[in-house]
Amino acid sequence: MSSLFPALTDGGGPAAGRPALRFGERSLTYGELAAAVGPVAGAVREARRVAVWATPTLETAVAVTAALLAGVTVVPLNPKSGATELGHILSDSTPDLVLAAPGQDLPEALAGLARLDVDPADRAPGTLPGDLAGSRADDEDPALVVYTSGTTGPPKGAVIPRRAIATTLDALADAWQWTGDDILVHGLPLFHVHGLVLGVLGPLRRGGSVRHLGRFTTQGVTRELSGGATMLFGVPTMYHRVAEALPTEPELAEALAGARLLVSGSAALPVHDHERIAAATGRRVIERYGMTETLMNTSVRADGEARPGTVGVPLPGVELRLVEEDGAPVAAYDGETVGEIQVRGPNLFTEYLNRPDATAGAFTADGWFRTGDMAVRDADGYVRIVGRKATDLIKSGGYKIGAGEIENALLEHPGVREAAVTGEPDADLGERIVAWVVPAVHQNPPTLEELAAHVAARLAPHKRPRVLHHLAALPRNDMGKIMKRALPHD
Ligand code: ATP
Ligand code: MG
Repeated sequence: MSSLFPALTDGGGPAAGRPALRFGERSLTYGELAAAVGPVAGAVREARRVAVWATPTLETAVAVTAALLAGVTVVPLNPKSGATELGHILSDSTPDLVLAAPGQDLPEALAGLARLDVDPADRAPGTLPGDLAGSRADDEDPALVVYTSGTTGPPKGAVIPRRAIATTLDALADAWQWTGDDILVHGLPLFHVHGLVLGVLGPLRRGGSVRHLGRFTTQGVTRELSGGATMLFGVPTMYHRVAEALPTEPELAEALAGARLLVSGSAALPVHDHERIAAATGRRVIERYGMTETLMNTSVRADGEARPGTVGVPLPGVELRLVEEDGAPVAAYDGETVGEIQVRGPNLFTEYLNRPDATAGAFTADGWFRTGDMAVRDADGYVRIVGRKATDLIKSGGYKIGAGEIENALLEHPGVREAAVTGEPDADLGERIVAWVVPAVHQNPPTLEELAAHVAARLAPHKRPRVLHHLAALPRNDMGKIMKRALPHD
């Protein structure tokens, strides 16, 4: 196949002097990156699969790029994973070796594995044959095995072919008018598709560049956006921090106002945060919707209307439909009829590693992938996610109620800092609505009566919570996603 990274062939070619990667104080041009990946690609090319200790560093970006150029499958490891999770991932994916930064301490679970230190200062110009990827790897070969976030159950290893990476990145380039002139500000971890595929491989495929903040801070965003960066990718917890900081950081508002594109994904962006950012900056955050298994499915387009609470329209090449419980497509895209999102297209994964049953169960007979996410669609194609089938759809009093809109309504209450909504069994209603709230001020938390009245005034009365729990914090995973199955009394 053609290379995933055209700008890296021939030692960087005409792009050799352009910036590619910057992590903190350290950076590489395309020419330097082409020279730095040479020795690593050479060392791993006989391997079948390699693990990468995916800290948010230059070493990780070089390791992954080099292995992909060599046609070798990469398993990114979350450096924060516990021993049990790591043990599961290693025995499931059986990598031949682990790539890590020199001097990086690795946990005991990795002790039995051969190790390759990746040093971006170790350069061998001209050692990367221009056609390395083309000569070895096929479009359908696995590029990555990425473990899902584990939000709804134990993480599953999604086998992602090279073809899916190339097509999803090119579809995003089309939707976002993403070019080699774009400079991305990045503050996400590198062990998931958001931070790794979109955030690192994306700029490299375009011939543009990425500046990684190491750790996300609003000051870092201000610095990079006012210093020439054009795009920001984040998860909703980051945009929440932005929204909270705006009243006291006028320079942040100015920097965001000057950005070309602000993109949110990995979980629903609360409408309240979207609107606070729009009010302070005049800019609307664009939402996109994706999964480990499908990479990106939908997005608001750069030249489209960013409607709060929607994830835009299907990306070029992606087929999307909403399906009733009996498997029939929903009768109408009327903005009200809820169905499960199913997708088909070149962006899809091949299988769950070692899980033929899970793989078979995830697809319909005619090849549609069941996302497990429930949504409505407007007549003009915009998709509005109402929540996950497993945890966010509450069947109460004969209604199917999405947790998301109740969470959005609760977040508009000044006494609510964070909110999650679940259902629990109820003799009368089937299920009753339970609100989990982190109060804005702990000494004076909002009461159930107040919040029920607040929700009933905004939504229909049957959507009001019947039970309220106050919490100090919501359980979240490393991507900032709310782990509803970890709520204390769920
Ligand atoms: P697991 O599959 O292990 O339970 P997970 O589904 O959280 O974990 P990911 O593949 O990282 O693992 O996340 C994909 C999910 O994230 C989607 O199915 C969807 O529920 C959610 N998601 C992603 N982007 C958005 C978005 N813009 N709005 C709402 N939900 C989103
Ligand atoms: Mg999932």
